[in-house]
Amino acid sequence: MFAEFDLHVPQDLDAALTVLAGSDRQGAIMPLAGGTNMIVDLRARSVAPAALVSIGKLSGIRGISIGGGRVVMGGCTTVSDMLRHPELGAVAPSLVESARVFAGQMVRNTATVAGNICSGSPAADLVPPLLALDAHVTLASISGSRTLALASFYKGYKHMERRPDELLTELSWPLPVQNATNVFYKLARRKGDAITVVGVAVAMAVKDGKCLAPRIALGSVAPVVKRAIAAEQELDGQILTRSRIDAAARTAVEEVSPIDDIRASADYRSHCVHVLTRRLLTHAWERLACGGSQS
Ligand SMILES: Cc1cc2nc3c(=O)[nH]c(=O)nc-3n(C[C@H](O)[C@H](O)[C@H](O)COP(=O)(O)OP(=O)(O)OC[C@H]3O[C@@H](n4cnc5c(N)ncnc54)[C@H](O)[C@@H]3O)c2cc1C
Repeated sequence: MFAEFDLHVPQDLDAALTVLAGSDRQGAIMPLAGGTNMIVDLRARSVAPAALVSIGKLSGIRGISIGGGRVVMGGCTTVSDMLRHPELGAVAPSLVESARVFAGQMVRNTATVAGNICSGSPAADLVPPLLALDAHVTLASISGSRTLALASFYKGYKHMERRPDELLTELSWPLPVQNATNVFYKLARRKGDAITVVGVAVAMAVKDGKCLAPRIALGSVAPVVKRAIAAEQELDGQILTRSRIDAAARTAVEEVSPIDDIRASADYRSHCVHVLTRRLLTHAWERLACGGSQS
């Protein structure tokens, strides 16, 4: 059923990075975290690594800490870890919502945040909220580590800013400022265990009655999960009226390039980008108690 591969089970991060450093080409030696994508890919023979490096049990790269103005999350943090964390829901409700509608219980118990990001799927549910929260990712190799914005991590369909010798060890993002919120909605054919048809995350703050630093991140409607930058720019620094929100949601549609597939047509996806973006922007704005202005 599987092509043959070696399995390395290193005891610590340095040992894992040392094994990965021996990778002479993309995909020759691959990290194995929860395995929920990897096992499917191995079975389908869409990947054929010579070796896997098991990282799911490594200490030091799993867990969530909140303090010093930031949320820091280890790459091997599972979806269930997010749901069990007592404070995460208060500072990142969009991320916790995406965890809540993620797969089924068994997959949530083992699927990791780094595996979700590094699978490179445009339907990866944790990515829209993380993009909207301005998350950064830390990539480590035996020669050191570097941190970059998640917004610059994806280069194209399943093509990422990650060298074969690097592990995604950590994510972090700033705690929301006062009077800010973030929300997520996953449209899928079933409530649970279904691949996303359209995923939308929105974040914003309101100061002096105006929208500040709006973020709109869209999943399953382009080769990569992406932000609708032009739509965000239309809203930044503005009082959000109904017509302004609707115009920005239409601009978001211009920024995506959905495809027809077994789950939905491109036209339906575009329609849902408009409707869901408008709905989430309205919801966020009204939640911040500034929704009185209408035009
Ligand atoms: C039944 C089922 C339901 C699912 N439902 C959903 C869903 O609702 N939403 C959703 O978004 N996804 C879903 N998935 C996909 C999958 O569960 C997620 O993408 C998951 O987060 C992958 O994490 P993992 O730890 O299992 O990764 P793995 O399968 O171990 O790895 C995935 C990829 O990431 C790489 N990788 C893993 N960790 C690292 C790291 N630290 N650094 C660098 N590269 C790394 C691996 O080499 C591999 O290429 C589902 C899968 C199944 C089988």
